[in-house]
Amino acid sequence: MKTIVVASTNSRKKEELKAILKGLKVKIKNLGDVKIHLPMVIENGKTFRQNAIKKALTFSRYIEGIIIADDSGLEVEALYGKPGVRSARFAHAKATDRENNAKLLTLMKDVPVKKRKAVFVCSVAVAEKGSLLGTAEGRCKGVIGFSLKGKNGFGYDPLFTPEGGKKTFAEITHKSKNKISHRAKALKAVRPVIQKYF
Ligand code: IMP
Repeated sequence: MKTIVVASTNSRKKEELKAILKGLKVKIKNLGDVKIHLPMVIENGKTFRQNAIKKALTFSRYIEGIIIADDSGLEVEALYGKPGVRSARFAHAKATDRENNAKLLTLMKDVPVKKRKAVFVCSVAVAEKGSLLGTAEGRCKGVIGFSLKGKNGFGYDPLFTPEGGKKTFAEITHKSKNKISHRAKALKAVRPVIQKYF
């Protein structure tokens, strides 16, 4: 049986991938399950795709099996695509979600409702033994609110209401978010890439 390793220690990402790859005869692990000393990957790409590829290729040289790496973030139209690849480090290098959200709210304080469009983007790369097998991308459009709403999720979830919805990502359940999220879409799009190698 082939092994797929999710290049993250986040067990939620592993569970998400398990649900999406249901039916394929694979063993899914994450970095926490592979007890190998891995190099630090500096995410200094200009795009989510570049960062995802860098992570997948690097780890695939150390770990047996197919590696899936992702990089994601928020692009705000009124801020010309910021925070983008710097989403996790928007306020400063070691910023908390709270600090990043505060910075976003401050920058957006005079932006009217109609101009508060944003999109969450997730890029996924698949690699094995130092070769790139494929990439995929998922997007979820929405708008940025004027205050934090909801306690679920992480990152910019309390400020992001998906298109057509009334609640922020932080006000809906994890299960509901998973049906429409950028990450779920990217993982679904990557299934055929993986399937080709079975
Ligand atoms: P990562 O690539 O999954 O580590 O995400 C990088 C950063 O983008 C996170 O630290 C968050 O600030 C932001 N981000 C990515 N996906 C989401 C999401 O689904 N909700 C909220 N914030 C997100």
